[in-house]
Amino acid sequence: MKICVLPGDGIGREIVTQALRVLEKVGGKYGRTFETEEALLGGCAIDATGVPLPEETVAKCQASDAVLLGAVGGPKWDALDPAIRPEKGLLGIRKALGLFANLRPATLLPQLADACYLRPDIVARGLDVMVVRELTGGIYFGEPRFDGMKDGERFGLNTMAYYEHEIRRIARIAFEAARKRSGRVCSVDKANVLDVSRVWREVVIDEHKNYADVELSHLYVDNAAMQLVRDPSQFDVIVTGNLFGDILSDEAAAITGSIGMLPSASLGESNPGLYEPIHGSAPDIAGQDKANPLATILSVSMMLRHAFDMAEEADCVENAVKQALEQGYRTGDIMQPGRKAVGCAAMADAVLANI
Ligand code: NAD
Repeated sequence: MKICVLPGDGIGREIVTQALRVLEKVGGKYGRTFETEEALLGGCAIDATGVPLPEETVAKCQASDAVLLGAVGGPKWDALDPAIRPEKGLLGIRKALGLFANLRPATLLPQLADACYLRPDIVARGLDVMVVRELTGGIYFGEPRFDGMKDGERFGLNTMAYYEHEIRRIARIAFEAARKRSGRVCSVDKANVLDVSRVWREVVIDEHKNYADVELSHLYVDNAAMQLVRDPSQFDVIVTGNLFGDILSDEAAAITGSIGMLPSASLGESNPGLYEPIHGSAPDIAGQDKANPLATILSVSMMLRHAFDMAEEADCVENAVKQALEQGYRTGDIMQPGRKAVGCAAMADAVLANI
């Protein structure tokens, strides 16, 4: 298994270093060998080569079985021309690898229930949602788009458009993900108002014929946003388009209350997937051994599960994280009274000790 590692900027290198220690330990336990190769992305790539996504990085990613990313960006590069900002590198690598599906699990571990914004009786029912968001289509990319003047006043226009093949492939990813979880998919759209959503719903229903073992339901996006805070325990996998997914995945992540805990995966048809924490490069704490490495460690777990079909190894990492939290270890972002405050490396040590 060949992994291209993109540490990126800010806390990127610190968290990726710790995640790779965990990968090596779990590999040793199960007799797996992972070959890693580093490449430049983001601000560090601009400093070294003048561009946020060097061609060499694209080639190295394409030649790998999976990509592990820390985070990119920081104040040092904020004043640059937007065309060569670090974030352009991130959009560029997603495009180059054809990553059309973004998987974001929002799980509330019982050990961190205090961090959750919801009422304790709602939290007690559990929160383990996987949002599958379409990433390369919909209103963010639809044509025509326009920003200017029309009929003597300011006028803006975007187009929400989906082809059947785009809906079918994201639906497949959601059904496959559900098979590895509780076997339920809720498709979110606005089919009562939008034509594009009616096509979305029809295609999802049609694709579902290939996944009869998975339960399929539908919600309008306004209701889904409400149900997520009213009773998130009703959801397993949510599949939705780019715009609705952008909003709902942030809502699902935010209610858990701990940004330093949440991993993500971006997948394409057959290209290597990209695994990364949902947070940014946290320049305010970079280089101080304060970053929470658990989101990146859990991204490695997603990589084991989705890229390499190593469910047992993935479970092992997740359980080790839960045990470290159970034992009271906390980085600053999730610190609670009476717990053991640790830094980035010591948090990873605690996870390693439980593998
Ligand atoms: P951020 O996620 O980097 O930080 C927000 C807050 O959360 C900060 O206070 C930070 O210290 C804290 N935080 C984040 N991750 C943490 C962790 N693992 N452990 C402990 N605390 C953590 O978001 P921001 O401040 O808006 O952005 C900083 C930079 O990151 C910007 O340049 C932005 O463009 C970039 N960014 C990159 C990505 C990415 O690479 N995928 C995503 C979001 C933002």
